[in-house]
Amino acid sequence: RTAHQKKALTLFEGICKGDRRALARGITLVESTRSDHRSDARELVSACARMPRPRSLRIGLTGTPGVGKSTFIEAFGMLLINKGHRVSVLAVDPSSARSGGSILGDKTRMQDLSVATDAYVRPSPSRGSLGGVARNTLDSIILTEASGFDICLVETVGVGQSETMVSDMVDMFILLLQPGSGDELQGVKRGIMELADLIIINKADGNLELPAKLTRAEITNALHLMIPRRKSWTPKCLRASAATGYNLERVWGSIEKYFEGLRESGEWDGLRAAQQEKWMWREVNHLLMGRINADEAVRAFAKSLEENVWSGEIPPGIAAERVVDKFLSSYILQKHE
Ligand code: GDP
Repeated sequence: RTAHQKKALTLFEGICKGDRRALARGITLVESTRSDHRSDARELVSACARMPRPRSLRIGLTGTPGVGKSTFIEAFGMLLINKGHRVSVLAVDPSSARSGGSILGDKTRMQDLSVATDAYVRPSPSRGSLGGVARNTLDSIILTEASGFDICLVETVGVGQSETMVSDMVDMFILLLQPGSGDELQGVKRGIMELADLIIINKADGNLELPAKLTRAEITNALHLMIPRRKSWTPKCLRASAATGYNLERVWGSIEKYFEGLRESGEWDGLRAAQQEKWMWREVNHLLMGRINADEAVRAFAKSLEENVWSGEIPPGIAAERVVDKFLSSYILQKHE
């Protein structure tokens, strides 16, 4: 065994025993972009993926900053733990690429959940690597599952691309909205709404109760006009409040029904299989781009073509083809050296 394999094996054993430090180190490893770490991470993820565990519930949760995601996850996560579940919370955090705050940066987030023995809240992902973090979130999910967490919540800020990526790696997608946000659902948000299996009008308490009712009616109407993503489920809209605990049980009831449908219809198997396939091709794209970028001659060649594309001398499609051809011939040459 190589030292790399040994390291992966030690982490693997720790993760399976439920050792949180091993889990944290494992996730740091899969988030790393260093090439020696990549090979350790591959060993580790493969071992974890082979662990015979009951299929866990992978649930994505999105909403704009301030809508109440962390407060909701804290309250809802505690409810799940009290029902005997083990809950992990991961985040895809596009804000970390910017200078501003990270959605998981705030130390006071999820105070109870983050110290509960049956929960694992992953702190902020490494800064400035959105692509990497989102790509490796599926690996992190697999690690927490091997560690015995049966519900995995993946949190993301509602700003676009990260939603599509997250919805490709979870079984259910939940959208949190503010009371009174019905108007926003034109345009951008609508795309996100189409991904949602459950929409929660959050903060349905105090003087937001009435606006929450109105927004729920609006959203429910809008949902009627959409084509459901699943055969076994029609998307629903519920009001809830993390502050008062209102409807949190109903939210869980809906989630259970949703998964019952997926399980009984056999849709779940197909969904997971399709996700695996999608991620395989994402990886192919990513690896190929990585290799093209790593080849200095090809990179220089591509750079020089960019000018011709800018000036309109060479159409982009043709330039792309030349870059790929250049890469392939350089690859073949290297093979024969
Ligand atoms: P995030 O940015 O989506 O994670 O939002 P936070 O969970 O940090 O919440 C943003 C603000 O909304 C905070 O001031 C919370 O106290 C408040 N908030 C969160 N949940 C509720 C709720 O259920 N009811 C009310 N009234 N306020 C809430």
